Amino acid sequence: MEEAFVPLRAAVSALPAYVPGARAGAGAQVWKLSSNENPYPPLPSVLEAIARGATEVNRYPDMYAGELVEALAAHTGVVAENVVVGNGSVAVLAHVLQAVVEHGDEVVFPWRSFEAYPIAVAVAGGKAVTVPVQEGTGRLDLPAMAAAVTPATRVVLVCTPNNPTGPAVHADELETFLAAVPRDVLVVVDEAYLEFVRDPRVADGVDLLRRHPNVVLLRTLSKAYGLAGLRVGYAVAEPRLAAGIRAVSTPFGVSHIAQVAALASLAPAAQGELLERVDALITERTRVTGALREQGWALPDTQANFVWFGLGEPTAQRAAEASGGGVLVRPFAGDGLRVTIGETEANDAFLRIAATWR
Ligand code: PMP
Repeated sequence: MEEAFVPLRAAVSALPAYVPGARAGAGAQVWKLSSNENPYPPLPSVLEAIARGATEVNRYPDMYAGELVEALAAHTGVVAENVVVGNGSVAVLAHVLQAVVEHGDEVVFPWRSFEAYPIAVAVAGGKAVTVPVQEGTGRLDLPAMAAAVTPATRVVLVCTPNNPTGPAVHADELETFLAAVPRDVLVVVDEAYLEFVRDPRVADGVDLLRRHPNVVLLRTLSKAYGLAGLRVGYAVAEPRLAAGIRAVSTPFGVSHIAQVAALASLAPAAQGELLERVDALITERTRVTGALREQGWALPDTQANFVWFGLGEPTAQRAAEASGGGVLVRPFAGDGLRVTIGETEANDAFLRIAATWR
């Protein structure tokens, strides 16, 4: 029989691959510092909610996750009309772009940044316009990003803290940027690592959103809240835009188990405990970055749960050496290594390896 191939969209054939962090195999102890995950296991109260939720999975979940949306709105300081949940914030980003990008519209974003951005932009039919992050500091160059906005620009993505380099945008920088960007250009502020920020010059975006209806915030329960495996992310936006994002979202996109686990994580006692864990991870971040600087590394100021090494050409080899030493890290070939802050023993194992590279 003659083989017939259905052509893929040109944009799909050209997509870069999203390379997931390496997975730890069975057997010898391997520390997984490759995906910016939270190293703590789920809280007992979250496990109980999951077990209870599991008894109800013959039913569809609440399509718009009403109870969870109410809880997230209260958590964020907005109302339910402002909140849209999705299957991880990466799915919510795709829905945001699908809601506003017409074929060929320009989407400006920093580079290097989150590797899902070029994929999501291309899938939505947009044209990627990348602006390099600042050499050495790894900070977003917001004046250059504002200058890259043209009449064809529909969206700008601002990743703060920036994955994988680590620095966060200061509140005054973001104000200046928003004043320079036309009000009909959507500014997506991706705050996936917000809870790890300790720099007082950085503000969370809710206040901005009140004054700039062209801002949408992206948040996730994958990082600080430790639910990466359940896939819960959300957008916070003005009601009309939120309705548009909801309209293009995958129906029933957040599973029942994910909804109940997220609700259990937002309960006051659980949240207190989870945020204490974040504090412990920040203590580790301070210890690890201090030790690395003592080893002689010049590191960007990370406000997230990872550290960036702009190694350039030897990146792949260093990643292989780290994995040979039992620590999985995330290489971006020819550019640098991103290493998650994990449990103390994992961080110590990585520090021993980094010392051999000096
Ligand atoms: N934004 C940024 C900047 C990220 O680093 C990530 C996860 N790596 C996400 C969004 C997506 O997170 P999730 O889909 O798990 O919510």
